[in-house]
Amino acid sequence: MQGYIVGDRILFWHRRDLRLHDNLGLAAAWGRSPQVTGVFCLDPALLEGKGIAPARVTYMVGCLAKLQDRYAEIGGELLILQGNPDTQLPMLAQAVNATAVYWNRDVEPYSRERDRGVAAALKAQNIEIKTQFWDQLLHAPGDVITGAGAPYTVYGPFWRNWQRQTKAAPAETPTALVGLSPEETAQAATAGVIPLPTAPDLGFVWENPLPLAPGEAAALERLEDFCSDDRQIGDYDTQRNFPEHIGTSGLSAALKFGAIGIRTVWLATVVAGDRSPSDEVRQGIQTWRQELAWREFYQHVLYFFPELADGPYRAHWKNFPWVNAPDQFQAWCQGRTGYPLVDAAMRQLNQTGWMHNRCRMVVASFLTKDLIIDWRWGEQYFMETLVDGDLAANNGGWQWSASSGMDPKPLRIFNPTSQAKKFDPDAAYIRQWLPELRHLDTADLVTGQISAAAGDRAGYPQPIVDHKKQQALFKEMYKTQKG
Ligand SMILES: Cc1cc2nc3c(=O)[nH]c(=O)nc-3n(C[C@H](O)[C@H](O)[C@H](O)COP(=O)(O)OP(=O)(O)OC[C@H]3O[C@@H](n4cnc5c(N)ncnc54)[C@H](O)[C@@H]3O)c2cc1C
Repeated sequence: MQGYIVGDRILFWHRRDLRLHDNLGLAAAWGRSPQVTGVFCLDPALLEGKGIAPARVTYMVGCLAKLQDRYAEIGGELLILQGNPDTQLPMLAQAVNATAVYWNRDVEPYSRERDRGVAAALKAQNIEIKTQFWDQLLHAPGDVITGAGAPYTVYGPFWRNWQRQTKAAPAETPTALVGLSPEETAQAATAGVIPLPTAPDLGFVWENPLPLAPGEAAALERLEDFCSDDRQIGDYDTQRNFPEHIGTSGLSAALKFGAIGIRTVWLATVVAGDRSPSDEVRQGIQTWRQELAWREFYQHVLYFFPELADGPYRAHWKNFPWVNAPDQFQAWCQGRTGYPLVDAAMRQLNQTGWMHNRCRMVVASFLTKDLIIDWRWGEQYFMETLVDGDLAANNGGWQWSASSGMDPKPLRIFNPTSQAKKFDPDAAYIRQWLPELRHLDTADLVTGQISAAAGDRAGYPQPIVDHKKQQALFKEMYKTQKG
């Protein structure tokens, strides 16, 4: 940033980009003027009602606290508002005489509608807005499309096209800002600026450790660890499916809230590839990139098919006669179905706010295909518990598991016993999360064939359904519904 106009005060509205480093919209604002003030609005529409996980709010508030420190380190400030963004932001912009408000775009239906409201309110006050930045994605919706110019609805061809496209380098990081004057600070205080509340102040209590410490420094450190160690990213292809290992990056909450920039993440994979010539490491990197592409695929499809947020993609799923037994749903939520792998996974979720991807697929298949419960119940429970809960990824994962989504191989049923045999063969993961069964033989834990003796089961329930029978029943219902 070279010369700038004194008095050209820009508000940068942070949403799911809680960092200074590699932030496209923020870098653009800073490129125009160092008089940038960060702002975050605690929006009741996102913090009240159902589907909000205490772990996620705790992580988010922690990221905001770190971001306030980062702003202060470079002479600026991150202001906190609470209320409807379409009234709060224009009020603040007027109070500090902002000439422009910048923000990064989002794919979620609610965010898009909210942003239209905020943009209209600011324009009505003659305040310039700049919002063309697709910060959270390597490729914007519309940049990866079929030869016929349509959005992809199948992941395979999306991935092949996506991976071929050139990826941008990380955006510049602001190094010095001109903060508000004391008068402007006083004016801001009259426009609804509040001290950053804690998560309990907002009504969310999470007492267990978070799977990833909040803030950009912790996220960058995790990325560095994961990508600089060949045994992590290099082994990803072979280790990512075994839930007892930490074989995945653990970056999902950071990616959800933008505590890390996606261009920085990509660059780390390039550096890892340049450093290591082995085919195995290259395969690990490639497989991890495919997961990053899944993330983008689900965001693109949500952008083009916003109706996915409200229900199934496949028409014949709209009236599927789900059984929806509330007691079985409760057993699933609490990790008391009598299927050890399913229960271990649900307890990992309840206790840590995170669940391994293999287990997310297993428990989602179990809920929809064994208990024959509407996937939207599971989708919501995940949003109520996951630290990384994200509409696009969660909805995509659930629709994939329920067979209601864009997956070209729709009827997919996971057998919890064969999944345990394959991915937790020593039952280490099951023992970790089901301590009451630790004393049992591995074979019993993996198959779930635990003897009925009270001492053996230690209060652990008998299987609440028979997988074989439920599988047959589900297939029958599926055929009838389809036909
Ligand atoms: C039913 C179900 C629900 C899910 N809900 C969510 C959710 O709410 N939020 C979420 O971020 N992920 C969700 N996932 C995807 C995946 O399980 C998590 O992203 C992953 O377990 C996070 O761990 P990680 O950061 O160690 O991932 P890594 O394996 O290290 O992958 C790197 C990153 O790629 C992205 N990613 C990986 N796998 C997927 C995927 N299948 N779909 C979309 N993005 C992916 C994530 O951002 C992840 O952090 C869900 C999957 C299923 C089957």
